[in-house]
Amino acid sequence: MTNLDSIVALAKRRGFIYPGSEIYGGITGFWDYGPLGTELKNNIKKEWWKSMVQMREDVVGLDAAIIMNPRVWEASGHTKVFADPLVECKVCHKRFRADKDEILLSHEKTHKEKVSWTDPKQFNLLTEVYLGVTEPKEKAYLRGEITQGVFVNFRNVVDSTRIKIPFGIAQIGKAFRNEITPGNFTFRSREFEQMELEYFVKPGDDKWFDYWKKERMKWYESLGMAKDHLRLRDHEEHERAHYARFATDIEYNAPFGWSEFEGIHHRGDFDLGNHKLKYRDDIAGEEYTPWVIETSGGVDRAALFFLLEAYHEEPVRNASHSDAGGEKRVVLKLDPRLAPKKVAVFPLVSNKENITAKAQAVYAILKARYMTAWDARGNIGKRYLAQDEAGTPWCVTVDYTTLEDDTVTIRDRDTTKQDRVNISKLVAYIDEKLGSL
Ligand code: ATP
Repeated sequence: MTNLDSIVALAKRRGFIYPGSEIYGGITGFWDYGPLGTELKNNIKKEWWKSMVQMREDVVGLDAAIIMNPRVWEASGHTKVFADPLVECKVCHKRFRADKDEILLSHEKTHKEKVSWTDPKQFNLLTEVYLGVTEPKEKAYLRGEITQGVFVNFRNVVDSTRIKIPFGIAQIGKAFRNEITPGNFTFRSREFEQMELEYFVKPGDDKWFDYWKKERMKWYESLGMAKDHLRLRDHEEHERAHYARFATDIEYNAPFGWSEFEGIHHRGDFDLGNHKLKYRDDIAGEEYTPWVIETSGGVDRAALFFLLEAYHEEPVRNASHSDAGGEKRVVLKLDPRLAPKKVAVFPLVSNKENITAKAQAVYAILKARYMTAWDARGNIGKRYLAQDEAGTPWCVTVDYTTLEDDTVTIRDRDTTKQDRVNISKLVAYIDEKLGSL
């Protein structure tokens, strides 16, 4: 299994993820995505949107504001019960989340003496903000989940789209939680991004909870997660959030244990009921409060788990003249749809003007279509290794033969095999590989 330190190091070295505010000593629970990480996250969101919105007739999108009228959070129950149990170590007075045994055990080990804990207190996770120009300023909250923005717009969406139940509203956006114990790299952060579907059904229409569990598992598998690294785990009654009738987590076999990265929740009529919103079915002539099935995934946790899944260290298989002479390569075998750069272009040598000019022409064609890297430094073998670490699926090299017959080599990241392709067929070659996925 990939260890977390390898990913943290790679993320920093190659520009996937940096510690937030690093030059000022960092800030616990916040992370910044670098050039490659931004692409990876965008690609995850793009694929999610494609499968959840673009390819479906029964789902529409929404992008609600992060800050809402505080009455929303009172109606939704969050100001009262959106809380985790907190305990304080009586030795050093540090505070921890009480319902995660591994966190407490690991702290107990840091003390020589026997640790005792205070009784757990409920600690609210909502992040407060203060707005306005007169004192005292008005208190509002950064949203603790993106979900409520969908519910408060339920009527707007129904009225403006005429969409009929069963239907869904999909949204991607930032959420904030004042987590007691952030940690495991980006896994538990205080600022993170969620991708959620709220699917509205007629009360009693029971098939959708199972349907969405299966759909969501299929999506992660279709993007390269091994079946045996994923599992569904039903919540015990005491774990369920205040709004959930049933809840199942999709978990990943992470280096720190099986961990949730998406929750499928049956929210019943809890939320629309709280906001006093109903649905009117004109054809059947009835009015009711729909049930909601929610799929709530974390973009950051997905990015972390896709990186863990993709990370491989392996011997350089094809140590031909063009692959590096090194023993080992680090390769991110990301699904090409998720890969930050789809293709890299290299002039075989950097000191021949005609080769560089030809390679630039190829680069111009490719960059108009895909995120494309350019590298003319060092030898080709080193450039391959650098692209392997970044997860770039294809590398195109312009060499002396190119000047004669307009063909280039295209090397596959996973097999390290090379094909020779005419420049005029390059886009079709890459599109075919991307499109057939
Ligand atoms: P946990 O039990 O790990 O605290 P949760 O059950 O409270 O998580 P949900 O409220 O179901 O999480 O949130 C849905 C999704 O949002 C999670 O599956 C996860 O991917 C993401 N998420 C929640 N909290 C965080 C966080 N602190 N950092 C990163 N992602 C998060």
